[in-house]
Amino acid sequence: MDTALQAFDLTKKLEGANTGSWLSCNGDILVSVSPIDGRTIGRIRTATANDYEKVAKQAVKAFKVWRMIPAPQRGDIVRQIGDALRHNKQNLGRLVSLNVGKILSEGEGEVQEMIDIADFAVGQSRMLYGLSMHSERPRHRMYEQWHPLGPVGVITAFNFPVAVWSWNAMIALIAGNTVIWKPSHKAALCALAVTKIASEVLDRNNLPQGILNLVIGNRKQVGNPLVNDSRVPLISATGSVNMGKAINQAVAARLGKTILELGGNNAIIVTPHADLTLAIRSIVFGAVGTAGQRCTTTRRIIAHKAIYADLQQALIKAYQQVPIGNPLEDGILMGPLIDTEAVDNMMAALAEIGSQGGKILYGGEKLSGGIFETGTYVQPCICEVPPDCAIVREETFAPILYLIPYEELDEAIAIHNGVPQGLSSAIFSNNLKEVETFLSHLGSDCGIANVNVGTSGAEIGGAFGGEKDTGGGREAGSDSWKAYMRRQTNTINWSDEMPLAQGVRFEFD
Ligand code: NAD
Repeated sequence: MDTALQAFDLTKKLEGANTGSWLSCNGDILVSVSPIDGRTIGRIRTATANDYEKVAKQAVKAFKVWRMIPAPQRGDIVRQIGDALRHNKQNLGRLVSLNVGKILSEGEGEVQEMIDIADFAVGQSRMLYGLSMHSERPRHRMYEQWHPLGPVGVITAFNFPVAVWSWNAMIALIAGNTVIWKPSHKAALCALAVTKIASEVLDRNNLPQGILNLVIGNRKQVGNPLVNDSRVPLISATGSVNMGKAINQAVAARLGKTILELGGNNAIIVTPHADLTLAIRSIVFGAVGTAGQRCTTTRRIIAHKAIYADLQQALIKAYQQVPIGNPLEDGILMGPLIDTEAVDNMMAALAEIGSQGGKILYGGEKLSGGIFETGTYVQPCICEVPPDCAIVREETFAPILYLIPYEELDEAIAIHNGVPQGLSSAIFSNNLKEVETFLSHLGSDCGIANVNVGTSGAEIGGAFGGEKDTGGGREAGSDSWKAYMRRQTNTINWSDEMPLAQGVRFEFD
């Protein structure tokens, strides 16, 4: 049995709901399978709608206590959760690899991201600043303050099975909210381990049950009740565009708030003024890292005709050197896709590329033999496509990189922005005018725009999220915390008069 499973006691019968202690759930059994070799690594009794109801009630009850604890003290609890994650970094990182197939270094990197956002949130807990304004009325004072919202629903995707929860939960906690987490069923073991780590900290501090909650279950039993629950004022959902559209409609129907972090279709423009060595390193990490299963994965390269052939050759050479295999082993740079459905989707997209005038230049094979036989491994793929190729507009969640040539920067930017998604983008250039054009209103329409830095691998200090079909949400750093709180504007009259704003007169005896 793997050490990571033992470390979090995941080898026994597992329950799919926690409100501080584990519920005895009544739903179907979820069998967790590792994409590394197809082995069963856990069995979880999932939650039903009744179990969800118990969790939601507890989250509402705990909110009444948690919101009254001063924010810096809430920050201290988050600091302790960050420390507990530091202590568990190796085991949790390994579990991420085992559960979703990331290479170890990326698994541990994801846990580091949790630690980083915890540290960030601790500082933020003393900086939930509101503005003060000068009133137009004499001896009046105006200011704004930020109050907690209530229980926050956090729905997460399989590909960042622990970090995305922490971006939301650490900020939601310091804001005074409780959290109800519905993870992807493909990454449920990671969620169980994180919940165990965090709830031990809450227990140690004698905090009430229901501050951090977990519910693992299907859409009918858990997803829909959570999304439609008017006791949950904010749903922060990370996943596909289709999921975001469905959730947005449901939450909007009850006038709730959403933070939507949806699919990307990220491109890098490589100009004739680029340092190609830097560009190639970034492209390969961005396109092949996490086996092409990041929301920020580099999917399109828009390269100037002058350097197109050289770049193409260099990329093929680099791809030939990518070691693919068991992501728990040293030296491996690309592990499996999450499941057979993901492999089938990639194969279907490649077939489509051929019929739409594209050409596969390298890779794209399903791998077989040895560990590849039971795991879900593919070769990363480079394709050359015409700019108007329809499949390029879609996010195929697999390591397919499209190469598109351009002649003028305006044309490159039009190709770049000509997809429905708007998450991450980059330009590789040492030419000031090209760089500034890309960063200006004329340039990238994405939430993230980088220069000589690839599309993948954001830091937590910035607000993370994207435009258009990516959903418009922002999480993590900068002032993202505001989405987890409600703003209140206050006016205080310390005079003996009752003047009205705008000079309105309303006198009576
Ligand atoms: P997915 O949409 O299949 O599932 C995401 C989560 O939503 C899961 O927990 C799933 O159970 C839940 N879900 C789906 N439909 C739902 C509904 N109607 N009601 C309630 N819950 C529902 O996505 P996935 O395959 O797990 O992840 C890959 C996708 O996530 C890609 O599109 C990727 O780009 C995106 N993603 C985006 C970001 C970002 O920050 N923008 C980060 C990571 C992943």
